[in-house]
Formats: sequence, structure tokens, C-alpha cells
Amino acid sequence: MNAPFKNLIAGEWAGGANASRNINPSNTNDVVGEYTQGTVEDLNNAVAAAKAAFPAWSRSTPQERYDILKKASDEILARKDELGRLLSREEGKTLGEGIGEATRAGQVFAFFAGECLRLGGEMVPSVRPGVGVEITREAVGIVGMITPWNFPIAIPAWKIAPALAWGNCVVLKPADLVPGSAWALVDILQRAGLPKGALNLVMGRGSVVGQALLEHKDVHAISFTGSVPTGRKVAAACIAGNPMKKVQLEMGGKNPLVVLDDADLKVAVEVAVNGAFFSTGQRCTASSRLIVQAGIHDKFVEACIERLKTVVVDDALKAGTHIGPVVDQSQLDQNLKYIQIAKDEGGKLVFGGELLKRETPGFYLQPALFTETTNAMRISREEVFGPVANIVRVKDYEEALSLANDTEFGLSSGICTTSLKHATHFKRNSEAGMVMVNLPTAGVDYHVPFGGRKGSSYGPREQGAYAKEFYTTVKTAYTLA
Ligand code: NAD
Repeated sequence: MNAPFKNLIAGEWAGGANASRNINPSNTNDVVGEYTQGTVEDLNNAVAAAKAAFPAWSRSTPQERYDILKKASDEILARKDELGRLLSREEGKTLGEGIGEATRAGQVFAFFAGECLRLGGEMVPSVRPGVGVEITREAVGIVGMITPWNFPIAIPAWKIAPALAWGNCVVLKPADLVPGSAWALVDILQRAGLPKGALNLVMGRGSVVGQALLEHKDVHAISFTGSVPTGRKVAAACIAGNPMKKVQLEMGGKNPLVVLDDADLKVAVEVAVNGAFFSTGQRCTASSRLIVQAGIHDKFVEACIERLKTVVVDDALKAGTHIGPVVDQSQLDQNLKYIQIAKDEGGKLVFGGELLKRETPGFYLQPALFTETTNAMRISREEVFGPVANIVRVKDYEEALSLANDTEFGLSSGICTTSLKHATHFKRNSEAGMVMVNLPTAGVDYHVPFGGRKGSSYGPREQGAYAKEFYTTVKTAYTLA
């Protein structure tokens, strides 16, 4: 076994020989690298290092923090092609998507470098004579981060950047399937000048390293992105511990895209195919539930099938590939299971759904599109997290809105329409955290809040200036002059 990529603990690369292989889903013979599997002891050491670093880091000047975050941003952007390639190799999204995600990580660090300089407070007159009131924001403390595999660099970036910008110390536990991008990001940040222990990386199993992070008494807050079942465990552990931890959860979706009779057909097809299937459908914001009005339904289905015929599913790193492989065997099994469930429920598979053979062994699945489904079927209610979408036919806008909201999730939603009235009504009445008009449900800006409602999210929003609700705590100070 090659020397593994190690954990970063107290500014040193550390870790035992126990390592796991990071496999390329486009070619399972290709090993991206060997990455240390952390232990509970590693995690405890990382939290101790963060605790030791916190007093100085939380009192560092905004200029010191700006300089480090800006330097990291510059390096990420300068190396975006190489980082994007690593990301596509380990996760399976196309090279264009991988480079785009690496670029996003660089932009996120540039944004939060600026936020270091913008944190303000308030001075408020007291209701009592001679008393002044100041309201300030301070770092929360030691923040534990647990991230999923589908955005291997962007999600760690949008958690780490605000945490460091506002003076917190961090312990990151990335997804076991994609440690390479997180390792590269942490390496860049450490070399950008972070003091030892301000940022620590402990790779390994969720049930071991992740669980120990949740249970550690010196961790003040947990930012989690992943599935609903894990999210529930995370929240329960954060509340059960003593002291309780601040917690933020970003979880799954079953995001609806409504297509009305008055939609521009070409726009609607692009929006649907991109939102449902690009990035192999492995986006929490993917529009896997297409709610289509009767008058446009048949034309829309036909045009989607024609468009899907032009989509190339192949090696993520190959020029000309539009959709890469599924991330691993277990996700592929889940996708195939749901394709069977949809068939058994009476859905009509009008395109794809079959395994594909390519030059190299990989998890290649032709995007699957179902018609004749209802909103009550499991395929409409449960997150598949793959290139599988189903169409529900509705008679009018009112029915479309009602079905769009008839879900336990509420991350993103979309509508394709040329009616200002319906677009406006949908933006106001859709029960989702993010609403798109004539745009895919996936694909967001990095300087504005990201997050959902209902079963998709819990706690304050991520990203943009709103991230301060989670990564800072408010202090109210009174002075009698
Ligand atoms: P997952 O829940 O299986 O794992 C997420 C993380 O939790 C991983 O790092 C894993 O190791 C860790 N983990 C697992 N068990 C744990 C435990 N007992 N204690 C602590 N940590 C534990 O999710 P996944 O399969 O990596 O990601 C896919 C899911 O993520 C989908 O449901 C998707 O919708 C969701 N997601 C949501 C968003 C969002 O912002 N809403 C973004 C991306 C992905």
C-alpha cells in the first residue's frame, strides 16, 4: 500500500497505516489515492488542538483572517483545473462540473475574506438613564463539520470559510467516499498561514469519527450536510450531549419542477433535463419530480426523450461527456431499486434506466424518465439521489402548486411559465427555501442564503452574510457611564 494521505491535527499531517482506497467511479481500476481512516483518538486530538488554538484565533484581527482566506482563494482559483480534475476523478461529475465546483470554492473563500472585514455591531440607547447597550457578535467556538460526497470541495468550503472568517476553530470530517478534495482544500488553507489547530481534518467512518465528533463535550456546534436519517441522529446527539450543541442540518430533497401549458417548451426541456439529470442527478436540489400541465404534457415528454437521446453518459474525465457515472455500487443499487419500485407502482419507463458498458469498468446508468406516475407513489415521495425523474400530469396551476407542496421536503422548487401572474404566485406560495422561475432547481449563487424548509433543513441558513447566524453568537453588553 502507498503511503496514505494523512489527517491534519494541530498543524501536522498525522495518521496510522489504516487507510482506505479512494476509487474512481468512472474506472474502478483507478485508485485516486489511499487516505487515512481516523480513529476516535485522532478525533479527540483534533478537538484538543482546536481548543488550544481558539483563544488566539478568535482574537486575531480581521486583517489576519482576511489575508489567509484571500490567499487560499487565490491558490484554489489558480489550481481550479487540477482540483476540478481530482474532484471529477473521485466523485464522477464531469470535468466541466468539477472545475466549476473548484471555482465555486475559490469564490466562496474570496467572499468570506471580505466578510472578515464587514462584521459590525450595534450601539443601542438603553431604556435606563446613563446606560449604554452594545450588541456584538463573537465566534461560537469549536465547530465540527460533517459533509456528504456529492460536493466534495464546495460544501467543505462553504462551511469552513465562514467559520474561520468569524474566528471559530474547525474539525472537518469529510465523506468517506471523497476525501481527496477535502484533503487538498485543507492543505491549501494550512499553507495559506492558518495557525496550528485552527483547522483540523479527520477522515474516516461516520459511525466512528463522525459519532465521536457529535459526542465530544468540547465541540460547541455541528454543521451537517447529508441524508435525513443521518441528520436526525446528528440533531439528537447534539441535544442529548452536555452541554448541548448548536446544530445546522442541510438534508435531502424531492424538489418539484412545475411546467405550465404557457411555458416556452425549449426552455422547459433544458431546465428539466439539466435539473433532473446533470451531475448524475446527485444534487440535493435536483428536480426529480416533474409536475406537468395536461396541455403541454405530451409535447414535453416527447421533447425530453429527444433531448435525452443526445446526452452522452461516459467517463467523467472524457471530453464530450455530459453525465458521468453514479458515485458507487451502493448508490447504483439504490437507483436500480427505485427504478423497479416505480415500475411496480405502475409508472411507465419512457427512457433509459439501463446499465451502460463503457471502455472502463464504472457505474454507468442511462438517465431514467417515468411518466404516468402520481404524487402518492414512492417514486414521488422518496429521494432517490440518482438520474431518475418522474412526471406527474396535472390539470391546472392550482393542482400543480398543491402537489408541488405535497411533500415532506422543502429545499428547492421551480416553475417554467411565461405568466407573470403564475410565476409571482408560485414564488410566494411554494413551500421551499429556494424557488426558481425558468431556471433549473439546482444551481445557486454563492453570496446569498442557501437552505430549505420542512424535512430538508434544520437551523440557520448557510452561505452569504446569513451564515453569521450559525457561525457567530450574539452578546449584549451594558455599561453605566
Ligand atoms: P449521509 O447522511 O450518508 O452521510 C453524510 C455524512 O455523515 C458523511 O460524512 C458520513 O460519513 C457521516 N455520517 C454517517 N453516519 C454518521 C454518524 N452516525 N454520525 C456522524 N456522522 C455520520 O449522506 P451522503 O450519502 O454522504 O450524501 C447524500 C445526502 O446528502 C442526500 O440525502 C442529499 O440530498 C444530501 N445533501 C444535502 C445537501 C443540502 O445542502 N441540503 C447538499 C448535498 C447533499
